[in-house]
Amino acid sequence: MTLRPLSEAPAPQLRSIRLLATDIDGTMTRDGRLPPEVLSALQALHAVGVEVLPVTGRSAGEALGLARYLPRVKGALAENGAVKVVPDAPHRLLFGEADRPRLLQVARAIADVGDALEPAPCAHFRLADVAFERAGRPQQQLQRLQVRALENGVHLSWSSVHVHLSLHPPDKGAGLLAWLKEAGIPPAAVATIGDAPNDAGFWTAGRFGLPVGTSEVAAQAAVLPALPAFWVGHAADGWLELARALLAARGAC
Ligand SMILES: [Mg+2]
Repeated sequence: MTLRPLSEAPAPQLRSIRLLATDIDGTMTRDGRLPPEVLSALQALHAVGVEVLPVTGRSAGEALGLARYLPRVKGALAENGAVKVVPDAPHRLLFGEADRPRLLQVARAIADVGDALEPAPCAHFRLADVAFERAGRPQQQLQRLQVRALENGVHLSWSSVHVHLSLHPPDKGAGLLAWLKEAGIPPAAVATIGDAPNDAGFWTAGRFGLPVGTSEVAAQAAVLPALPAFWVGHAADGWLELARALLAARGAC
């Protein structure tokens, strides 16, 4: 599939979007933080009837904080779509459950000599997987680790910040479909955006109405099982490009 710039997306397709499902790290962030323009855009999107749903690889605990404090955000999907969190409601495991001792044992078994995978400090707030610091590991090394993990019956994915090990295939799209079913929102009315292999479930052909990737996706195309239909710029700048396009399609820009 050829990636097309978002400017080529047909206006009716943009106008039909009712929910933006978005990755956080490397997608909404700039230098690891949410810029003020992104927070303003959350308000503006809500005002024109577009809901924003964070779907992150971060832990259930961190996603709950995001859902509680981000403007106009009502809930989130954590741990690559496996955990539904809504403030003041019980969290729910949509799929998967972490067998932490086994996943840590596999992490030790697959690591390169002298380069142990370091568990991320958010371990206490995770329910469905185990996350390790990516620590700048290049794609080729992560691909090797992914092959070794699968040989041990474990799934490995990664984002710009973490390496994830889980007993279930990580799939943000599957979690999102479950959320949409409960919310009564058709997947065709959903835009998705991400920047890394742990976002690939957002881009499975035919799943969602407007699958978008940041400019980082092109360099990772070889390791992605699915590619977005459209691309935007780098990280938060790309996310804002999508937000502005959605706003403009509804006559708000
Ligand atoms: Mg990301």
